[in-house]
Amino acid sequence: MAILLLVLVNIILISFFDTKIIFIILFFEMISGLITFAFFKRKASALSNVAMSTNSGNYNSLTDVQLENYYQLLINHFDFPIFFLDKNFEIKFLNSQAKLSYGKKILSPITSVIRDYEFIENIEKYKNNDNLNNFLWKKKLPENKSYKTEIKKFNNFLVLQIIDLTKEVNKKRNHELYLTNLTHELKTPLSVIIGYLETINFEEFSLEENKKFIEIVNSKSLEMKNLIDQMLKLSEMESLTKVKTKINLYQVINKSIKSYRELFKKKSINLIVDVDKIKNTFIEFTPNDFEIVLNNLLSNALNYSDSNTSVTIAASFISKENQVEIMVKDQGIGISNDNLTRITEKFYRVDKSRNNLIHGHGLGLAITNEIIAKNKCKMLILSNLGKGSTFKVLCKLS
Ligand code: ADP
Repeated sequence: MAILLLVLVNIILISFFDTKIIFIILFFEMISGLITFAFFKRKASALSNVAMSTNSGNYNSLTDVQLENYYQLLINHFDFPIFFLDKNFEIKFLNSQAKLSYGKKILSPITSVIRDYEFIENIEKYKNNDNLNNFLWKKKLPENKSYKTEIKKFNNFLVLQIIDLTKEVNKKRNHELYLTNLTHELKTPLSVIIGYLETINFEEFSLEENKKFIEIVNSKSLEMKNLIDQMLKLSEMESLTKVKTKINLYQVINKSIKSYRELFKKKSINLIVDVDKIKNTFIEFTPNDFEIVLNNLLSNALNYSDSNTSVTIAASFISKENQVEIMVKDQGIGISNDNLTRITEKFYRVDKSRNNLIHGHGLGLAITNEIIAKNKCKMLILSNLGKGSTFKVLCKLS
């Protein structure tokens, strides 16, 4: 390409200038060509020397600069930061990932490049005690990340590599939190059950009183069963790949409405149904799961709304995007913006005292969210504190 361009430029020159000027230009072109050729030849031979020596395992014949070039080439293949330090902990060279994360700061001490207190403290410990060759540290601000740093001695260098462990640490922390929440949710009804079982006494209390205790034991046992069922559903959604089938959306929605109609009536909530537009509409969905989604949304609308308000369930097409939208809208207590982003987390309940009278474990929306994601649908949540909430589920038509 470059040669073609050169020929073209020369043809233009010949047609415009006289021979003297052309000769002068050609002379300069020749000189610059020779210099470029000599430069590339030197670089190529240096690299081929390195390649030949390293291939044959003969590192001794390489100069220090050649070795550094070779290490530099090698460490650039790693996608985490690697620094080669001298004995004073100054950076001799670093890989591209380190340059990207910490900037190109050759000859600076590593502790002036990674200016984190925990990191510096561990480096100081390493300087005083050679055994400490790997340590965990956290960069709290601004990212709140966790890292593992490994230091290895290699020839005249100290090789320091930094591995980002944030994902693993968060996963572990979430798992621990999950177990704490789960045991707490199970322990509460269990202690109530044990307490009442110990209280039941047919000699001391009347039959009526004992019956009341047994009813409480029964309802708490059902609560525990419900929680275990929800946990199983969640782990099934998270781990299994279920085959999708065609479901008749209109039929599924009507089935859910049928089981909730009486409950809304009992609480004097006006249930408005507007789903006839989607009669005979089918979508691909994991079996029985759309019903779980609707039941969760309807049960929340019921639980978090006061009497004499309205709840609307409506379905419509978004023809532009070949989608169907199912909406559950209430005029209930609403959710603040801060909480809106968290309500799909496992065990998250907005303001526990506000929710105290409503049974729940904060798992319904986590399950709903998981089902929706597995089926490649979308859920939109809009809410106004004190005014009400709208949950929209959008799915592609099959
Ligand atoms: P829960 O069993 O507590 O209802 P969910 O996962 O279904 O669990 O909901 C999580 C939290 O989100 C609820 O505890 C409640 O604080 C809030 N929430 C869910 N739906 C609504 C709603 N329609 N209106 C107001 N708050 C809601």
